[in-house]
Amino acid sequence: MRILLIEDDPVLGDGLATGLRQSGFAVDWLKDGESAVAAMQSEKFDLTVLDLGLPRLSGMEVLKRLRARGDAMPVLVLTARDAIRDKIAGLDCGADDYLVKPVDLEELAARIRALLRRAAGRAEPMLRHGAIALDPAGRRVEVDGRPVELSAREYAVLHALLANPGRVMSRSQLEQSIYGWNEEPDSNALEVHIHHLRRKFGADLIKTLRGVGYTIPKA
Ligand code: CA
Repeated sequence: MRILLIEDDPVLGDGLATGLRQSGFAVDWLKDGESAVAAMQSEKFDLTVLDLGLPRLSGMEVLKRLRARGDAMPVLVLTARDAIRDKIAGLDCGADDYLVKPVDLEELAARIRALLRRAAGRAEPMLRHGAIALDPAGRRVEVDGRPVELSAREYAVLHALLANPGRVMSRSQLEQSIYGWNEEPDSNALEVHIHHLRRKFGADLIKTLRGVGYTIPKA
């Protein structure tokens, strides 16, 4: 899952980016409102964490422009303590949730998981496919109740495919869900992860559509 983080405070931004990566998200971090608007127009993210006090263009303005374009991407806004008006204004401008600074990283990750679940129209926290069950909170995968060991990137590929059942994910969509901008994938890495997943879950789980991408067909 690919998160766009927009926070101008270098220390806080670094802490949030690091914490979210440790929670298994691919994170792209920007520090001002104008680059955020540009990135939102040119790239696809699963969710945005948006600070409201930003240079060049306020977070509220970024949010208004996103919603004015009809983009329904989930947005969680970060507000300063004592700024109750910001919470109300943010929600009324189209934010889906808010957190007050200082942010607890575990709470942030849990709220992000809840927003992603809701955006996908799911109430059930686990992702299931046949005998496979993936738990996004614990980042665990089981087959028939038995745990399966996965690398962080194998997990990210499997999560992206299971979260989009029946949808064909292009190579670049899958790469974006496992790498942020500052981590360049090596050229055959995705194929290697897919190969390992097939070895662990059976050759039939992930279908290749040559020249198009990969999919896990609906069970
Ligand atoms: Ca700020």
